[in-house]
Amino acid sequence: MYILNKQPKTAMVQLYDRLVDKVADTCVKLYNGLPKTGKPIDNEWTVLSCLLQYDKISENLEVVSLGTGSKCIGASKMSPFGDVLNDSHAEVFARRGFLIYLYDNIEQALQSKKSIFIFENGKFTLKDNIEFIFYSSQLPCGDASIIPKEDEENFGEVLQSLKQKACEDISDIDLKKINGDIHRTGAKCLPDSAQDSKEPGTNYHLLGQVRIKPGRGDRTQSVSCSDKIARWIHIGVQGALLDLLINKPFFIHHFVFGAGVPYSEESLTRSLLKRTDVSMVIPDVMPKFYQSRLVFPHIKSDLNVRPAAGSIVWSKSRSVEVAVQGRKLGVTKKKLKLFNNSLCISKYNIYQRFENIINQNEELKKLINAEDVRSIPYNAMKRKSIRYLEKWELVKKVFFKAWTKKPDMWNFSVNDT
Ligand SMILES: [Zn+2]
Repeated sequence: MYILNKQPKTAMVQLYDRLVDKVADTCVKLYNGLPKTGKPIDNEWTVLSCLLQYDKISENLEVVSLGTGSKCIGASKMSPFGDVLNDSHAEVFARRGFLIYLYDNIEQALQSKKSIFIFENGKFTLKDNIEFIFYSSQLPCGDASIIPKEDEENFGEVLQSLKQKACEDISDIDLKKINGDIHRTGAKCLPDSAQDSKEPGTNYHLLGQVRIKPGRGDRTQSVSCSDKIARWIHIGVQGALLDLLINKPFFIHHFVFGAGVPYSEESLTRSLLKRTDVSMVIPDVMPKFYQSRLVFPHIKSDLNVRPAAGSIVWSKSRSVEVAVQGRKLGVTKKKLKLFNNSLCISKYNIYQRFENIINQNEELKKLINAEDVRSIPYNAMKRKSIRYLEKWELVKKVFFKAWTKKPDMWNFSVNDT
């Protein structure tokens, strides 16, 4: 890891840079301390994403979940039993690891132990002093990664030297690189919507489109990380199940990105906040975007050309797990048939966790209006989350204008196998 040097700054800006760098440094140090399994080898690269918790009273900053990876499985490999992860991008793994952290805290509040939640009147409320920060070593795939090359901010020494060179000898420089070209994304527009022109230069991509992640084999059905993060910003990061248990949704306040990769605050704002002018979908918490000066050691580069096959997930107080093709590494085929041997962040295991919590408390059973929670399949339980789904329908219609059509296939129930 190294720090990119920039122009001299005022004391205030230096302080701000140090705080942003502290976020990145905390995440990368945690990553460096994890075992090697699942990390890039030889010429491989990966993405690192983390959720951090900031306590405004104690000023304590800590990573509570971590994810790595850049792979996604094709639609034919999705499992109706909820035991295979469809999407193994770092951002998604970090957010699902964050859900585990939230469930841990919900359970602690239920047992009157130390927690970030208060349990009162049958619902959980996040304490006022807690804020969440998201870190990622690069911008999310999809719409936010479509960055005009001339608009790049802080692309570090590379761009700096390019600009200096331009002043010294204009004939020596590839003008197309700094004028009239864009960074592209591998994510494709939805099949039934308008498509990229793929013309050379700035018109290559359409802007503001919901995009599908690339994957090996058949087409994936997972939307890009730009789309997923925009969704968290607009309806909360908790998801449908957890929304049933909490008083109000909660949001990420700050987004910090790594250096040494293309970055544009304008692209982030356009893609995550302003795809539409309609004021009906203003986020409850308007997040801020920052770029740290710290470079994650395994970024994609001229040396690191192949994406790592594995994905790592880590959640505070839990052991690290490694996934390949959405399944937990190191589990025998026979054991994989027992769905709770899937990753801790699989739909199956998260739903099992949810049910265990409901079964501990009569008020929670009443809340979801079910005497026997185990009789309700996963997809039917999600449909009970009316507040969440109503907000989602509005945001989908007004902000995104389209979304991927996944089959309603997760009709599984948790059993005791
Ligand atoms: Zn992604």
